Amino acid sequence: MDGGAQGDLFDLVHDSVFVRGLDGAILSWNAASADLYGWPREAALGRNAHELLGAGHEQSVAELEARLLADGRWEGELARQAANGSVLVVEARWSLRRGPDGAPAAILESGRDITARRAAEAALRRSEYRYRNLFQAMAASFWELDFSPVGGMLRELRKAGVADFGVHLAANPELTREMMRQTRVIDVNEQSVALFGERADLLNASVEPFWPEASTAVFGASVAAAASRAPSYASETRLKRLDGSEFDALFTACFPPEAVGKGTLLIGVIDISERVQAQARLQRLQTEFAHAARVSMLGELTASIAHEVNQPLAAIATNGSAGLRWLARPEPDLDEVKALTGRIVADAQRAADIIARVRGMAMRHEPEMSSLDLNDVVVEALAFLRHELQGLGVETEAVLSASLPAVRADRTLLQQVLVNLLVNAAQAMGGMEGGRKIAVRTSHDARGVEVTVRDTGPGVAPEDRGRLFDSFFSTKASGMGMGLAICRSILETHGGAISAIDPPDAAGGACFVFNLPAAEDVAHTKV
Ligand code: ADP
Repeated sequence: MDGGAQGDLFDLVHDSVFVRGLDGAILSWNAASADLYGWPREAALGRNAHELLGAGHEQSVAELEARLLADGRWEGELARQAANGSVLVVEARWSLRRGPDGAPAAILESGRDITARRAAEAALRRSEYRYRNLFQAMAASFWELDFSPVGGMLRELRKAGVADFGVHLAANPELTREMMRQTRVIDVNEQSVALFGERADLLNASVEPFWPEASTAVFGASVAAAASRAPSYASETRLKRLDGSEFDALFTACFPPEAVGKGTLLIGVIDISERVQAQARLQRLQTEFAHAARVSMLGELTASIAHEVNQPLAAIATNGSAGLRWLARPEPDLDEVKALTGRIVADAQRAADIIARVRGMAMRHEPEMSSLDLNDVVVEALAFLRHELQGLGVETEAVLSASLPAVRADRTLLQQVLVNLLVNAAQAMGGMEGGRKIAVRTSHDARGVEVTVRDTGPGVAPEDRGRLFDSFFSTKASGMGMGLAICRSILETHGGAISAIDPPDAAGGACFVFNLPAAEDVAHTKV
């Protein structure tokens, strides 16, 4: 056997090919072997292959060679060591070469390096294992779903010219329900069983029974998100257990491209009913607190309210007596009496209005959302405090935007925000000589409607800025420190915000600004 000539021929092959004698001595060694194992041909020829390349499994090599002698061939995976000490996984094929007399003479080994492939497979197994582990062990309910039929439905829709799946599905809830029926459960973890019902009833089921009618839009939006290649989708929604009971859930769907390509989808569900209930309790508490604060403020304002009501009552009494006098004349002046009676009616109406306002403020009620013009609320709050502010020598100015969009809000709560801000402003200017002024301004921009309440008082100390809205933060001797905290809570429950800003023209004083989304935007985000 001419090792050199064979070596030349084998140099054309990409796989490692070498021939060794039955004693293990290397007889030929191609270029790919030199590349793979790092031993040049001169260094390899004549060496014992097992010593040169063995990764410490002589025992099994002897067994394998015994099998080769019996069958004439062997193939399998070997761990082999390269010149630099690294261990390679080699897919090897051995074949027996016989001499002219037919007796076994040498062994030809061809080998292909599959180290990287095996490493990748091991990594994939590890990641699949990790994924399985996560799938089972996470404290959330996980579902693997087959939604390939939905993929088909989406393709049909696209062919039919539907461009925006979000809009289309929102307008066609029955189609969304059909997509639910077409989506089947492949696998669920233990948490899903604990949350929804028996595993056997969950597997292979369609997902429709788990979606109450009212949550259809959320499913539709998640399908639209998947179709738009968003990486994931999350929303709070209500879901249904197999026993028909509903609960508040955080629903998340994840669309990794490999999974979507296979038509599968991973979703997670977290039961947030307790959180939602706690929020509702907190909301009730806040409403009660807001009410308590309002009543305590009304207490402080009693003198001024009494005065407000007294004025029309006194006017009624005066006009009434004057009317009687005109009537008691020998020739009653009926025109004069008519005019006086008109004024009496108007004053009575004024008194009734004031009382209605006070009652509205004092009554406890659940927030009642209606479409409001914030300009009206500003005017009402200023009217409510008119006497109080006049008494303190505070001049007021209202600059109201003529084209203010409506907001969706509870009228009494927003009045309370404004009254709080106005009372704070008036109190802040209490110690001043003169020049007490409050300016209220309404405006609107893309973020919604904005109201600014600005005074000419001492302003807010920089170190207090961050704490103004904290509960019980007050710099006043008898302050409760709840006014601004309640303002913030009221605005946040309406989707708005409040902050203290530097007065725009650096003229001093305090400047509070709050904003609320315009009603049409609120309606839009609800869909
Ligand atoms: P309280 O009025 O009971 O102190 P608030 O929450 O309404 O509670 O106000 C908290 C604090 O914010 C006040 O004590 C005051 O220091 C500051 N503050 C509020 N409004 C103004 C203002 N217009 N000018 C200066 N400081 C203000």
